[in-house]
Amino acid sequence: MQSLFRSIPAIDKLLKTPQGADLIQQFGHQAFVTQARLLIEQARQHIQQHQSLPDFLQTENTLFNELTHRLQSLAQVKMKRVFNLTGTVLHTNLGRGLWSEQAISAATDAMRNNVALEFDIEAGKRSHRDLYISELLQQLTGAEAACVVNNNAAAVLLMLATFAQGKEVIISRGELIEIGGAFRIPDIMAQAGCKLVEVGTTNRTHLKDYRNAINENTAFLMKVHTSNYQIQGFTSSVSEEELVALGQEFNLPVISDLGSGSLTDMQALNLPAEPMVQQKVASGVDLVSFSGDKLLGGPQAGIIVGKKAFIDQLQQHPLKRVLRCDKVILSGLEATLRHYLFPDRLTDELPTLHLLTQSLDCLQQKAECLKVALSKRLDCRYLLQIEPSEAQIGSGALPTEKIPSFAVTISADKQSDLLELEKQFKAYPNPIIARFAQQKMWLDVRSVAEFEALIFMLEEL
Ligand SMILES: *Cc1c(COP(=O)(O)O)cnc(C)c1O
Repeated sequence: MQSLFRSIPAIDKLLKTPQGADLIQQFGHQAFVTQARLLIEQARQHIQQHQSLPDFLQTENTLFNELTHRLQSLAQVKMKRVFNLTGTVLHTNLGRGLWSEQAISAATDAMRNNVALEFDIEAGKRSHRDLYISELLQQLTGAEAACVVNNNAAAVLLMLATFAQGKEVIISRGELIEIGGAFRIPDIMAQAGCKLVEVGTTNRTHLKDYRNAINENTAFLMKVHTSNYQIQGFTSSVSEEELVALGQEFNLPVISDLGSGSLTDMQALNLPAEPMVQQKVASGVDLVSFSGDKLLGGPQAGIIVGKKAFIDQLQQHPLKRVLRCDKVILSGLEATLRHYLFPDRLTDELPTLHLLTQSLDCLQQKAECLKVALSKRLDCRYLLQIEPSEAQIGSGALPTEKIPSFAVTISADKQSDLLELEKQFKAYPNPIIARFAQQKMWLDVRSVAEFEALIFMLEEL
């Protein structure tokens, strides 16, 4: 044992070797010494437990290989790129959609440089960080002003805290939604210090239900888009127009949380209908909120558009300072919104809309190409097929509405072989994330943006 312990090199000696000097040049003295100490400590424990040298201590080379590997892996970002073959285009767990090239370029420009974030260049004085976006949204939606915060959940919280603290908010029982990740309308209401007044029943709510609930403590009437489920059958709900009329009668604002919302007509693109922000503004809703990173196709943000007097109050609330966006997000969002000034180019420029509008022919070709690349890698235990698949928008856009797609499906006689393959896919330099259904692995090609990079990776492996 003593001789084993003696073969552990001293850190001072390691520092002076040419390989040590190289690593110090690359990673600095501190990180080198910290990792070398950890490694030596590990070697001591190994000798104590196993009365033998650990593999990495066999030669000086193996020791430096291990040290290099550890230092390099410390420098590597663990939140790595994955290929989304789940068929869910806006997959929240995979970071939702991708930014357009223009948005990426505006954002990286803002990262590297100072920008006129809150500065009026002509007047040479302070301005407001939401100004450019507010001007754009006035043009795009017809709203009087806009306010931008961290995400749509924050937008809902800010609206409630500003207008309804200590007061009542009337909402239909059919709209008390929970979205993934513990966003529940009743909980947000409690956080904002307001009282939820539920009206109607799960499947049916009428205008008179709202009317009967109004009292002197009512702050506003609220609509929430039931984005992740659909109530079917004997149903009825109250439209924004009707609520606006009722609100006017009692001098109460109407607020609408659209969730995804859209600035462009999805049906014209042959996609499931999604409420349009400009329509809600036109129907007289006082404040409309929606996400920046759902169908809009930009960075994570919560956008509120509506009447100027209300937006001004939101801007002055202390929570706005807590929830505001930085220059990177704001520049990416501004670039994203500018695409909507050129509607004919939208599906070419915005990756999310591009993925959603790919033709079935194009998807079938991609599936064939993927099948060829995969079949070179998989042995005879696996059966590969091309099958029609059902993709979805994701992130709350109706999961009951499927979008036709194509997938490469992989099946095996033994389920354990499929699990082994899944493990293998996850261990790739850029893991492949698939969907499981009917005892098969489904690789849906609609949701993968970097298709060529995927094929390239499979061929290089
Ligand atoms: C998605 C969604 C939210 C939350 O939006 P985030 O931008 O993810 O915070 C809130 N309300 C509705 C109706 C939604 O669909």
